[in-house]
Amino acid sequence: MNRFAASDDMDPLLRSLRNGLVSDRLGRESHKRLNPDWVESALSEASSFIIPVRGEDSLFYRKPEPRAALFPAPAVRERITALDNLVYLGHHRGEDFFAISVYETVNAIPWELLDEGLAFDSLWSTGMLIDQFEASLLAYARGMCYWHHRTKFCGACGGDTRSERAGHMRVCANEQCQSIYFPRTDPAVIVLVHAGEHCLLGNKSSWPENRFSTLAGFVEPGETVEQAVVREVKEETGVDVNTLEYHSSQPWPFPGSVMLGFHATATRQEITLLDDELRDARWFSRSEILAAKAGTGWLRLPSRISIARRLVEDWCQTQ
Ligand SMILES: [Zn+2]
Repeated sequence: MNRFAASDDMDPLLRSLRNGLVSDRLGRESHKRLNPDWVESALSEASSFIIPVRGEDSLFYRKPEPRAALFPAPAVRERITALDNLVYLGHHRGEDFFAISVYETVNAIPWELLDEGLAFDSLWSTGMLIDQFEASLLAYARGMCYWHHRTKFCGACGGDTRSERAGHMRVCANEQCQSIYFPRTDPAVIVLVHAGEHCLLGNKSSWPENRFSTLAGFVEPGETVEQAVVREVKEETGVDVNTLEYHSSQPWPFPGSVMLGFHATATRQEITLLDDELRDARWFSRSEILAAKAGTGWLRLPSRISIARRLVEDWCQTQ
């Protein structure tokens, strides 16, 4: 059976490119990171742009329709003395893109260039309203700026670290230490468990009581990704699964993960909430999912930006 034939290709790569916050248009061109002279010259080019990240928020134009706010690189470069908070992201159609954490470099942004209607807001809530390429840039920028923020100090000796390779490496400034740190992303599994005409969704206590989503959790040291799927489902709901089927992945910079998406078949359907992760977990029929997708009924599905929504909808379209 071609499980995804109704909605998508069987190729996980093609499936992943349909996920929110994903695009294949950016060339990361990692060789450029090794050349500080190139970075400096690129920052003086009108074809270079800088994406500001403030804490957990990205900057958006609100009108006439939502879009990401990008600044001309030269206007930012002339305001900053050091490039410690600057990250080279990549290249697309003659343009180069950088990110900067303005949480720590608040004077770097040429605010006078801003139009009205700009606002910092969550990528999570606004990401599906903007161009997919822009959303992928903001996700990349957010993940990198978060990593820089959390790696200011050396984990080995506590000393200051400095940015290298256009923001893709940090090195301990302590001559006796010189530990090296690379950007990291934490693997997490996310799974749609199904049994015949029903699928299993959970509700967290921090969510509205009618919002349900797929089960998810971090991969722990010493286990495989597949073992993490089985363990998370068991821990959160008491349900046993087998026959894992890899779906696709999604960068999830909230704050620093990559989600590895699966479908799994339940072999034991009785629900027992074994830990405090979930307030509720239930089996939903395919017709209930379809009603929620159509905006009727009481059930609220996960955001369209998330791979969770893709996992649910692709299961729903299988025959
Ligand atoms: Zn150190």
